[in-house]
Amino acid sequence: MTAQTDIRHDWTRDEVAALIDLPFPELMFRAQEAHRRHFDPTKVQISTLLSIKTGGCPEDCAYCPQSALHEKSVKAERLMALEAVMKEARAAKAAGAGRFCMGAAWRSPKDHDLDAVCEMVEGVKSLGLETCVTLGMLDSGQSQRLKDAGLDYYNHNLDTSEEFYGSVITTRTYQQRLDTLSNVRDAGINVCCGGIVGMGEDVSDRAGLIATLANLPKHPESVPINLLVRVEGTPLGEAEAVDPITFVRIIAAARITMPASHVRLAAGRENMSDEAHALCFLAGANSIFCGEKLLTTPNPAEHRDRQLLSALGMSPMVQTEEQMSSLRPAVPSDESLKLETATA
Ligand code: SF4
Repeated sequence: MTAQTDIRHDWTRDEVAALIDLPFPELMFRAQEAHRRHFDPTKVQISTLLSIKTGGCPEDCAYCPQSALHEKSVKAERLMALEAVMKEARAAKAAGAGRFCMGAAWRSPKDHDLDAVCEMVEGVKSLGLETCVTLGMLDSGQSQRLKDAGLDYYNHNLDTSEEFYGSVITTRTYQQRLDTLSNVRDAGINVCCGGIVGMGEDVSDRAGLIATLANLPKHPESVPINLLVRVEGTPLGEAEAVDPITFVRIIAAARITMPASHVRLAAGRENMSDEAHALCFLAGANSIFCGEKLLTTPNPAEHRDRQLLSALGMSPMVQTEEQMSSLRPAVPSDESLKLETATA
């Protein structure tokens, strides 16, 4: 199979379930084959995620502490000011990020909110960073406005299979999510779309999610695969933990079915061992979020990521001179590490 002939859009759920269930060495071999047809397996794309509007969300996503409808939720804040966002973006660039993602806890953006986000997109792009935003549902006009502002990526996850979706979210439908993805794609913006493992779904739901993503008219350019962060006070705060091998299998299935996409190891890395990270990279993950927070949940400190990538002989995908110097292998002094992290 060549890189030109391995892009398919006709995956069945059973086929994906059979992939997930392959003997582990066979699964990893197939994932590596797919990965190496399209990417240098030693390179990892680095993104930074900033919550530009936290909490108070009217949606009821059962995993999310930003929903205003759960027993406990994070404090609602106003949309960040442009200059505060620019400061974070400059720090992310200095810490080696190639893409700056901005998330707002909205059902969908209002006109004046979109004006402000468009200014942020223009500002962040002027720093030479790729831009990504996640703002909830978008219609075609809103998608076009973001495209005109220069937006590179829009994130909107499907979360899980269509069948299981209603157990996790009731305030918007799966079809509304698909419609937003279609509006974004039609506007010419790259799509970032993935899901979450560990919400009580079964293997058929995991296969269904991967098959739905792989059967979109065009594969999402970025496919974030999240391991549920069980946040106290959310309906999924006490969900059963997923073992790392199960999670690695889903990463591999995403890599095999969407071989040319960046498969992102997204939320849930904080409690993942170095060994589990290494298996995820071997399974074809080639993108991570850097920074100590993912919207509102914890993420590994940057020096840990630097040490891990260095130990694995891996490096960031985008490397300007400036980024290379700031991503040098971690220095041994704890004090220096604190300083580096504090400025990132
Ligand atoms: S995941 Fe997004 S849409 Fe759902 S409750 Fe959280 S902020 Fe709102």
